[in-house]
Amino acid sequence: MKEAGELGGQVAIVTGGSRGIGLAVAGALARAGATVAVLALDEERAAAAAAGLAGEGHAAFPCDVADPGACKRTVRTVEKTLGPVSILVNNAGITRDNILLRMRDDEWSEVVSTNLGGAFNMTRAVSRGMMKRRHGSIVNISSVIGLIGNPGQANYAASKAGLHGLTRSVARELASRGVRCNAVAPGFITTDMTAELGEEVTEELKKRIPLSRLGEPGDVADVVRFLAGPEARYITGQIIAVDGGMAM
Ligand code: NAP
Repeated sequence: MKEAGELGGQVAIVTGGSRGIGLAVAGALARAGATVAVLALDEERAAAAAAGLAGEGHAAFPCDVADPGACKRTVRTVEKTLGPVSILVNNAGITRDNILLRMRDDEWSEVVSTNLGGAFNMTRAVSRGMMKRRHGSIVNISSVIGLIGNPGQANYAASKAGLHGLTRSVARELASRGVRCNAVAPGFITTDMTAELGEEVTEELKKRIPLSRLGEPGDVADVVRFLAGPEARYITGQIIAVDGGMAM
């Protein structure tokens, strides 16, 4: 049963897979046949997310991606429980917005150590196994803000631009071992993260988006599933914007 679908027989880790974009990614990978490990901070929410995915065998693992030791331990547990990991989606991310002059040290470091440090911690933890097996696809969820910047988001933009450098370096370093690494840079997507923008700001934003709407988590998830799977076999080191044309 598990072999069916383009990702049949593969184990995927999705960080921040309990809600928003990560939940949609976990859903798309599961529908394509992958067995999904949902990682998040909130154990109950992660368990509910894993239980709601199509097919069987998915599981939830509490893990703070900003903690390097926790990432190593969690990857070991996932591999013992579900099998060798061949897909990693580094999606967990946070915002702590503030104007530059008021930005506190903790607002800077929490965002950088979660969004960028988390992707590094997880990538390092899965890469030995992927290289040994000469098979793997890593997809980092960055942001168009990492390409164009944003007032009040120096920490967030820097973390996401850093992800682009990480993506290209990992792609170059692991290509000869059969491991691909790409990034998806979403524009404004309707999730908890953008819920607090308010109607007025949302209407103003739509004017800057050629496709005239905010994105849905599924718009991002479909591209992640494509990059993770066999149809993207000749694609590595790319940053693909999924933003309704906003950043072109
Ligand atoms: P969201 O709804 O706020 O969900 C964030 C997810 O990340 C949750 O599952 C959360 O887990 C998890 N998470 C946060 N900190 C974590 C940590 N230290 N360790 C493990 N998991 C952690 O966010 P979203 O809007 O779906 O965004 C997902 C990704 O897309 C982020 O990287 C974000 O920067 C990026 N992105 C979003 C947008 C947008 O418009 N929404 C645009 C561009 C890029 P808990 O449920 O346990 O808290």
